[in-house]
Amino acid sequence: MFEEFECLRDVELAKFSTMKIGGKAKWLIFPKNVQELRKILQICEENQIKTFVLGNGSNVLFDDAGFDGAVIKLRHFDFVKKCSKKGKKQAFCVEVGAGINLFALNVRLAKLGLSGLEFSNGIPATLGGFLVMNGGCFGHEICEFVEEVQILQGGKVFWRKKEECDFSYRHSNLQNCVILSAKLHLFEEKTEKIMQNMNFFLEKKRASQPCDLPSLGSVFKATNGVSVGKILDDLGLKGLSVGGAQVSKKHAGFVVNTGGAAAKDVLALVEILEKKLAEIDVQPEREIIVLKER
Ligand SMILES: Cc1cc2nc3c(=O)[nH]c(=O)nc-3n(C[C@H](O)[C@H](O)[C@H](O)COP(=O)(O)OP(=O)(O)OC[C@H]3O[C@@H](n4cnc5c(N)ncnc54)[C@H](O)[C@@H]3O)c2cc1C
Repeated sequence: MFEEFECLRDVELAKFSTMKIGGKAKWLIFPKNVQELRKILQICEENQIKTFVLGNGSNVLFDDAGFDGAVIKLRHFDFVKKCSKKGKKQAFCVEVGAGINLFALNVRLAKLGLSGLEFSNGIPATLGGFLVMNGGCFGHEICEFVEEVQILQGGKVFWRKKEECDFSYRHSNLQNCVILSAKLHLFEEKTEKIMQNMNFFLEKKRASQPCDLPSLGSVFKATNGVSVGKILDDLGLKGLSVGGAQVSKKHAGFVVNTGGAAAKDVLALVEILEKKLAEIDVQPEREIIVLKER
């Protein structure tokens, strides 16, 4: 059905999630451009095939049973284009493809002498996924740098201004469309200084997070500004396990895959954590996204 596109059949989703969990997807498709993407979505709609747009899978828990539909990955949407110089503060606008991963983006921006996103270095996400989640850390969020976001919705391409994206803490209204690119404003800086900043943030992450084990980052969103990881740590829950899923011994906000974990282990562990938190009247929202087979 998707022969004319770059496409894998019956592919293990575990390879496409940083949690290394997930059964097979019927199709994994890599459109080369917007025309192909539009055509793929049209074929899916006409044939009632479910679709899921995947970034780097760093926030998605795939079902053990896999996904009986088409997973679409925008890895060819990885351009970085300098647009214009703006205002007095030596600010530059760049347009960036949604499929680029944040490390590659940071390296490209450093070479261009453009600073701002270094805080995101070390987060294994694509720009598209980071925009959907309004990801952030160390006091920054991606929305600070957004001018507008280009989306595909209902077969049409639009630009949605920052004010129309409803950005708030780990939230946007961009889930139900496909993000193609975004215009970001950044600031001129020496490449060397940007590289230093990138290393600084990377080391900070490595020091506090279990970067050596598969995970999806923080399982829960902070609640009333308090880190749920800190609460779970205070409850003494580090190391709690179900099967191969374990509350990280390094950062209680992360559930890690210590080897051979199934999605059902992760979900069972998350439910235990939710019960423990409910006992002390804490009801955090899940940050991770669970993609069910149906
Ligand atoms: C080790 C580790 C550290 C982390 N640290 C942080 C952190 O410091 N701060 C933070 O905020 N998060 C962090 N995370 C979580 C995760 O990286 C973020 O949630 C990130 O935004 C997900 O990006 P992604 O590209 O992997 O998206 P995915 O996980 O693939 O997808 C997330 C959502 O975005 C949607 N999506 C992806 N791309 C598009 C697109 N082009 N168009 C439309 N929808 C799309 C998907 O459908 C899904 O709903 C961490 C994760 C890990 C594993």
